[in-house]
Amino acid sequence: MKIQRLNRIVVDQIAAGEVVERPASVVKELVENALDSGATRIEVILKEGGLRWIEVRDNGGGIPPEELPLAVASHATSKLLVPEDLEAIASFGFRGEALASIAAVSRLQILSKTQDAPSAYAMQVSFGEVGAVREAPGGSGTRIRVEDLFAQLPARLKFMKRPSTELNHCISWVERLALVHEGVSFTLHHEDRLSLDIPADADLSARCSLIYGKGIGQKMVRVQKQRDSLHLDARIGPPESAQRGARRVDLFLNGRWVRDARLLGAVRQGIKEFVPPGHYPVVFLSLHLPPSRVDVNVHPQKTEVRFRDERLVFGSIVNALKQGLSDSTWATRSAGSIGDSHRRAEGRYRYFEGGTVERAGQKDAFFSESSSVDSSEAREASLPMETHPDDVGKGKLISVARTYLVREVEAGLEIIDQHALHERVNLEELRRDIQNSVVHSQPLLVPELVDVSRADLNLLLSHADIFLTMGVKIEAFGETTAALHAVPARLTHLKPQSLVQDLLEIAEENRDARPEKIQEEALFSMACRGAVMAGDHLAEEDLRSLLQRGAHLPQDRTCAHGRPVRVLLSLDDLEKAFYRKS
Ligand code: ADP
Ligand code: MG
Repeated sequence: MKIQRLNRIVVDQIAAGEVVERPASVVKELVENALDSGATRIEVILKEGGLRWIEVRDNGGGIPPEELPLAVASHATSKLLVPEDLEAIASFGFRGEALASIAAVSRLQILSKTQDAPSAYAMQVSFGEVGAVREAPGGSGTRIRVEDLFAQLPARLKFMKRPSTELNHCISWVERLALVHEGVSFTLHHEDRLSLDIPADADLSARCSLIYGKGIGQKMVRVQKQRDSLHLDARIGPPESAQRGARRVDLFLNGRWVRDARLLGAVRQGIKEFVPPGHYPVVFLSLHLPPSRVDVNVHPQKTEVRFRDERLVFGSIVNALKQGLSDSTWATRSAGSIGDSHRRAEGRYRYFEGGTVERAGQKDAFFSESSSVDSSEAREASLPMETHPDDVGKGKLISVARTYLVREVEAGLEIIDQHALHERVNLEELRRDIQNSVVHSQPLLVPELVDVSRADLNLLLSHADIFLTMGVKIEAFGETTAALHAVPARLTHLKPQSLVQDLLEIAEENRDARPEKIQEEALFSMACRGAVMAGDHLAEEDLRSLLQRGAHLPQDRTCAHGRPVRVLLSLDDLEKAFYRKS
């Protein structure tokens, strides 16, 4: 065969593969166009999950009749004029590809009327063949109907899922766009049934309730941050909304929904202390920054992005989420009931009442508070709002499998993971010491010598000053031996050998990280290694002492790795289990 130029229809069908993957991609492009046109009312109508019929109606600016053929031509757009515009994109569209691509793989009809035109005009495109523009009855705005998507591309059609699955993808896109467009009403009908109805006057909170469900929406923690020209607005669902995977994490950049692995990584980093590994609560996160500081033109579907100053942006996200959750009920002393996982939508059961906190003097060296550190005033200041009359000194305490402590509380049974609690206690106490610069170091009678490679020794020593702020003193002893001279006084039963190994691993994994990150990783590791393990036998005294120390932490719902510290088997749960109540 000789070389020939591909004809336009084939070119558009190839391009369509990038933009139009399934009915939901069509819904997304059409709704975005409606938003770009300034619409305040958008209606979506679907049949067979969008495979047979997708119609989007808007009350936006409309398209003049002479521009209709251009609207479906590839690389024709009204949103970009000069190359410089690419540097600061404020609209959804700019590639001028969507309508051309969709029209290449479906039967498409446009009916549109601009505000001041006397009449509406219609045009049809059938699998790339453009028809004539003719006058037609219709009100202001645009209606685009897409029928029989991929009908002439059997290879594509094979990849479509069941209509119910395709429908869900379509609904998701409308929901995402609806979340960040206050002032615009959205409806979605499938087979004449109303599946989504967002009124124009619903604000973000109301939209969250309508889209994530009332039970979750009403309990979302709100986090806001403004830093230079970066504005962050996040809503985080309650702990019981956490599920494996990031399916319910919605990230927006300048109003555009994005699915960016590194952005998600920043969210993960911000919530990791509160949720078990691999789990995410419902998250809505919206970032606004000047278009010139981001590049959205890295992917045809525009769901991946690049930031010009990634570190700053990611750092802001991590800190804002961390801070926001630490200040919220996420962190405070309240236990999720065992029943919660079965009734996610319902309110979390709280059994704590206001009350005074008494500090009992402890004698046991391992578990006791290091009395030199804090005054009771400092402690009061960091007390969460919710505390309860502390009676850990009294009452029956049962240890199950040398791992779980069970005790009666006002509203039922509380079950505590001894390792998780001790880890959290260590973490909070050490953190406070470091913040107050009062870390007590315990010199070792005989320094612990650990043989390492020359490179590893250098790596360790390059962070020696960070470790010193935490009470860990490491020096060189010859060229390939590290000498551990001191450990934090609170964590005297850390095994010196494995401490050095852990710190080395952390230094290796965080070669280019900021000092605070290394300090935090070291803190997590030491809090865990310095804690009693599941299976360790503890005398009752020690158990009570541990409970006492855990009784008034600023944060104690989860261990350092995000697993729960305590769960509640509420009277309600018990009554249900015994069929006293249904
Ligand atoms: P892009 O959005 O990247 O410009 P599209 O192929 O999606 O490319 O649309 C091409 C052009 O058609 C747009 O630039 C716009 O001028 C016009 N258009 C498409 N949909 C609408 C609509 N719903 N209302 C008004 N104009 C529209
Ligand atoms: Mg578009």
